[in-house]
Amino acid sequence: MSKPKVLQVGPLTDRFQHNLADRYDVTPLWQQPDPKTFLKMHGAQFELVATSARFGCSAEQLAALPNLKAISSFGVGYDSIAVDVARDRGIGISTTPDVLNDCVADLAMGLMIDTSRKLAASERFLRAGGWLNGNFPLARRVSGKRLGIVGLGRIGQAVVKRSSGFDMDVRYHNRSPVKDSPYTYEASLVELARWADFLVLTCPGGAATHHIVNAEVLAALGPTGIVVNVARGSVIDEQALVTALQNGTLGGAGLDVFEAEPKVPEALFALDNVMLLPHVGSATEETRLQMEELVLANLQAFVERGELLTPL
Ligand code: NAP
Repeated sequence: MSKPKVLQVGPLTDRFQHNLADRYDVTPLWQQPDPKTFLKMHGAQFELVATSARFGCSAEQLAALPNLKAISSFGVGYDSIAVDVARDRGIGISTTPDVLNDCVADLAMGLMIDTSRKLAASERFLRAGGWLNGNFPLARRVSGKRLGIVGLGRIGQAVVKRSSGFDMDVRYHNRSPVKDSPYTYEASLVELARWADFLVLTCPGGAATHHIVNAEVLAALGPTGIVVNVARGSVIDEQALVTALQNGTLGGAGLDVFEAEPKVPEALFALDNVMLLPHVGSATEETRLQMEELVLANLQAFVERGELLTPL
């Protein structure tokens, strides 16, 4: 029996490539000399797409895939997929939720602790020989502080669970309150920022959350406040963030995501009150393996039963 055809938009690990090719007749779109022309000529062959939060599937690509039935994406963000277009056409979309909650939440805690206690900055100080000339300046406490979560979903709740070990007081902002949540809902993001010591972003990216953390929100968080972003770079107005950090009107920032990845504003490199990570929220051996397996399991379920295991 011939293998089902899969169009793969962008590369993943060698292991994933191998496992996908074992079960499917895979066309790697990124390896075509001219992917756009390739899609125009051959797009009608494909009913299945494998992609990732990074490479997505655009409206233009969907238009060239008239027979597409399902998209199985690696990662939980879907801002790079033309979801509305896909939904209108009845195309199923799956992501890899839940399996990455723990690692992304662990990283958010790491960013909170680092930016507040200045772990990386004090290590830079030690390595540069600064300790020989005096002590590192005092940092700020993490335990017992106020934690404002923007997006109390799967990852946001995993951050809250971890924060209980730090005796933190929690409030959150979503578009609407979470039913039966014991935490105080704050309808205004500015008010949440005014109340919080840490503002941790765990909401989706995309048009609806574009720059919701703007100059006004950062000013409300204030000179001792810290913003941690493990959501998407687009959620923060990056220029306003740089200005607030440079002027000291914001205390610090722990950032795993940026507006124009892999480009990071150079102005941030000069600041000691930031920790900058190259989008590694889910990047552990264990979690990435589970994410790969879930992409494959979604494809398999769709081929065998016409349904996705973790539909959007
Ligand atoms: P989720 O379970 O869907 O939670 C998202 C939360 O955001 C929900 O509580 C939702 O509540 C809230 N929200 C949605 N739109 C909003 C808006 N316009 N304003 C305010 N709140 C809004 O998603 P998740 O699995 O926790 O993942 C969250 C995001 O994390 C992903 O979309 C992805 O971008 C990011 N992520 C990053 C990494 C990384 O490597 N750094 C890894 C995985 C995921 P309402 O619907 O009530 O508004």
